[in-house]
Amino acid sequence: MARRASSESKHDENLAASWQELLDRAVHLDWECRTGEALDTAEAAYEAALETGNIAGALRASHRLALIHFNKEALAEGLKICLRAETWLRYCQDQAAIISLQSVHGGILVALGDLETGFALLIDCQKRTKTCTDPLANWRARTAYAVALFDSNDFDRAAEAAADSLIYAETSGLAKGSVLIARSITGRMAARALGEHRLAGREVDNVLLACTEEQLRSILTEAEAEDLSYEIAECHCYLGLLAWTRGEDAAAAARYIAAIGASRVAGDDVLLAETSYWYAFLLAGQRSFSEAVSLLAAIEAMEPVLAVPRMKLRHFDMRFRIAEMADDWKAAFDYHKIYHELVVEDYQRLASARAHTMKLALDLETMRRKEDSARLERERLLEENLRLASEQREAVLASRTDPLTGLGNRRELQLRCREWVESGVTHAALLLVDIDHFKRINDIFSHSIGDIVLRQVADLLGTAGAKGSLAIRMGGEEFLLLLPGTTAGHAFADAERLRLLVQNHEWSQVASKLGVTCSIGLADWSLADNLEIALQVADANLYVAKNAGRNRSIATAI
Ligand code: GH3
Ligand code: MG
Ligand code: MG
Repeated sequence: MARRASSESKHDENLAASWQELLDRAVHLDWECRTGEALDTAEAAYEAALETGNIAGALRASHRLALIHFNKEALAEGLKICLRAETWLRYCQDQAAIISLQSVHGGILVALGDLETGFALLIDCQKRTKTCTDPLANWRARTAYAVALFDSNDFDRAAEAAADSLIYAETSGLAKGSVLIARSITGRMAARALGEHRLAGREVDNVLLACTEEQLRSILTEAEAEDLSYEIAECHCYLGLLAWTRGEDAAAAARYIAAIGASRVAGDDVLLAETSYWYAFLLAGQRSFSEAVSLLAAIEAMEPVLAVPRMKLRHFDMRFRIAEMADDWKAAFDYHKIYHELVVEDYQRLASARAHTMKLALDLETMRRKEDSARLERERLLEENLRLASEQREAVLASRTDPLTGLGNRRELQLRCREWVESGVTHAALLLVDIDHFKRINDIFSHSIGDIVLRQVADLLGTAGAKGSLAIRMGGEEFLLLLPGTTAGHAFADAERLRLLVQNHEWSQVASKLGVTCSIGLADWSLADNLEIALQVADANLYVAKNAGRNRSIATAI
């Protein structure tokens, strides 16, 4: 990567800030019912979070995306988002992000008819809330459970769960907006449960009814103050349902009409249709069949509504019920037939949705396995590379080092001299050191004693030179000590010291009666000149030292 660290981290900071900002904006757009823009922005937040490796951020953005789809009944789209996000779940430690995503995932599965998997996820979320400290996530888990019960037509338990979720919302310090939503969900579910009791001719809990009505009224006041058209429509719709449950048809009709108007403002066709059904049912009860039927016909003209399978089913359910009430048996039979076909279709759809889910999950698993084996392969290659690199390092080191003595070899000499030239060293003194009669040492004491002698002479060489000097094994029993920045004349004393070090070393510890001396030829080397020429001078001096009887240093060039 060519980018510098500082600009890189700045870049990351911007992205990190931007996913959160994008997500906040998406929530806001969703709140304003600008669905398309909200989806685009949440998707951008997802991308930005992933780019910075913020898995929790990606999950939060996915939660929002899936929730928007879910609220718009685009269940398959929502499911896809959840399955995509599932890839990241196992890399995430953020309980709140996991709960948020899984609760919407569970909700979508239940709405699709996969109650088993859906509720399993929702119950898992409930468990997670015990260790999660984020009240918003914990409330989401509770709410999702209530909504799922509602979607599986378990209205009474849904109302109970929603009431429980509302208590949590009110006591855990949630933001005002969330508490409002919690209250509106609770009110809606209680109202629907009560309405169902009336529909089925069961006894209605009047205390609960009064309490729910009161709750919806207060939400309506708040929603009107903040001009939240969807909430307004919903409150009117369910207040209408409660009035109808009480048997107050006129009040109910007024509410329904208000709700239909507000749903138009909110642009929410599903809520508009839902309200129209209840209103049509009321009208049919009053025997105003033509009005009821024209309401249903108006819905039939709204294609997007009937594109939602759940709503289509509900539509023909209402159609045949109202036709029956009007004693129009022919129409009732026809509508019932359509309804019946839809039920069958719905079962098939749910089954295929489930199969689809399973297939996607399977694809995901295969993808993960591939990812895993790719990761293992990457790790193996990395290890292999590291091993090769260290082998190479060792080989390089070995090629510069004499294995017997550990001193540098001729290659090391070359490289170090190059470094000296680069660092501005201009001259050096060369001490060419040759062990005297070494052949005899080998012959008398053995080759391995000879090796020990070589090693110990090498050690002495290492200690003889000043800091910055370089000791090299030139080959056999011949060594070179280079003293940079000095002359042969100045180095003569060093040569003598070294020679005496060798001579006076405790050789008897290596072998009794062993004695070792060496001869040293010195030379000056100007680094601008060829080293070989300076070496020849040193060698000539060494030759002189040998001829003069050995165990001496010679510095005078001949
Ligand atoms: P001079 O005083 O003239 O230098 O005599 P010398 O015997 O030291 O010199 P010569 O060149 O005749 O002998 C060098 C010997 O060093 C010959 C060779 O067998 C021995 N030798 C070379 N390398 C090694 C080694 O790695 N280990 C041992 N033990 N002996 C070695
Ligand atoms: Mg020798
Ligand atoms: Mg020799």
